[in-house]
Amino acid sequence: MQLIDSVKQRDPNEKEFHQAVSEVLESIEPVLERNPQYRKAKIIDRIVEPERVIVFRVPWVDDAGEVQINRGFRIQMNSAIGPYKGGLRFHPSVNLSILKFLAFEQVFKNALTTLPMGGGKGGSDFDPKGKSENEVLRFCQSFMCELFRHIGPNTDVPAGDIGVGAREVGYLFGMYKKLQNDFTGVLTGKGVTWGGSLIRPEATGYGAVYFAAEMLATKGKDLNGSTALVSGAGNVAQFAMQKLIALGCKPLTFSDSSGYIFDEQGIDGEKLAYLMDLKNIRRGRVEEYAQKYPHAVYTPVQVDRKCNPLWNHKADCAFPCATQNEINGLDAQNLVNNGVQVVCEGANMPTMPDGMNIFLDSGVLFAPAKAANAGGVAVSGLEMSQNSMRLAWTAQEVDQKLKTIMQTIHKACLDTAQAYGKPQNYVMGANIGGFLKVADAMLAHGVV
Ligand code: NAP
Repeated sequence: MQLIDSVKQRDPNEKEFHQAVSEVLESIEPVLERNPQYRKAKIIDRIVEPERVIVFRVPWVDDAGEVQINRGFRIQMNSAIGPYKGGLRFHPSVNLSILKFLAFEQVFKNALTTLPMGGGKGGSDFDPKGKSENEVLRFCQSFMCELFRHIGPNTDVPAGDIGVGAREVGYLFGMYKKLQNDFTGVLTGKGVTWGGSLIRPEATGYGAVYFAAEMLATKGKDLNGSTALVSGAGNVAQFAMQKLIALGCKPLTFSDSSGYIFDEQGIDGEKLAYLMDLKNIRRGRVEEYAQKYPHAVYTPVQVDRKCNPLWNHKADCAFPCATQNEINGLDAQNLVNNGVQVVCEGANMPTMPDGMNIFLDSGVLFAPAKAANAGGVAVSGLEMSQNSMRLAWTAQEVDQKLKTIMQTIHKACLDTAQAYGKPQNYVMGANIGGFLKVADAMLAHGVV
């Protein structure tokens, strides 16, 4: 039986995990042919099996005095090259399949950063939307009351993801510190006054834009004077837009789970500042942007839509920065028909397999998430280094290191794709590059 069939048979309901595994297995086929030692040692069979999966009850009391129960998870996927590292996601859609796909992707992404980090992911089906400050605090404290015994600065170092930003990381860190009586770098994305790194909030979005700039440079082009479609309005989308604006590119769209904004005049620094205040401080909906700037058009999400109208505008670049599977085959075809040149994944696995094939076949510069959004975890790795050394680098130092890491990842993907006869196929380059590093470490460690 093919490995992917046995993965599907073993966990038939984990379709997002199957999708992520299929993509990697397809890419690494030529590596396995050239290197039989990986098959012999069953590296592939081992790499798709998490080292440990922790599932736990998270009870908490809401403002009305009612007891609420959520489910908490931590997937410790692979520690061959360093402590488990990967974010926590709080969103009602969270389940084992989604977290296993994210943890699996994280293993290869972290290897690409060149930093010593294994892969993990976790979170809860808790929905922070509409909850009071006190409810979020109580939930985070209850979540950490179980998670704390499974993590540590040399074991597993979580960070933020969807629904887990600076506020949640603060509450989680505070409870960990109290329970362990230990001030240590057990989470990244911390506030700068208590161990956080400058540029960590910006890193994923900035990194994706640096990666897009590198891809364009291979064609003798740059971002200046171009336009971009961006999805999402959270951490990644906001800082991708900030860097795009700084480099002379005009973002035209952004979205949340209720709908999207199309601003034909382009989003500038002042409009972005309004959006950041709206989403981060007032925790409002993107719809309000069209009330503040009436020339902008708001389109609510239609439940039975076949494609996402956000991706059907003319633009040079596309930065999907919301969530998984947000670009299907029709969306990809719309983007290609409208002349898109670069698609750079800020979110994890936002493009479905048929969409990815359309981009690759039509010669669009396509950057998969593992490579393009690795800037966030890379700066998390730098935050861990600073915590260990008990010092703090300046924003310029961290930004420069981030840029260098993104350039290194870009070159590694490009060179690897070339070496395997698929020039400019960044999907293959990223999957093979990440795989080789982890697989060789696993071989060296014996059967563990
Ligand atoms: P975030 O700050 O919570 O923002 C997520 C954004 O996406 C919000 O605008 C949210 O809308 C929207 N969204 C979430 N789920 C959605 C859904 N099912 N349908 C439509 N819209 C949805 O999260 P983030 O940190 O920016 O993460 C965004 C993506 O980047 C995720 O795929 C994450 O895994 C990936 N990523 C993040 C980092 C990082 O450093 N944060 C690093 C690497 C990769 P609402 O406001 O309506 O919820």
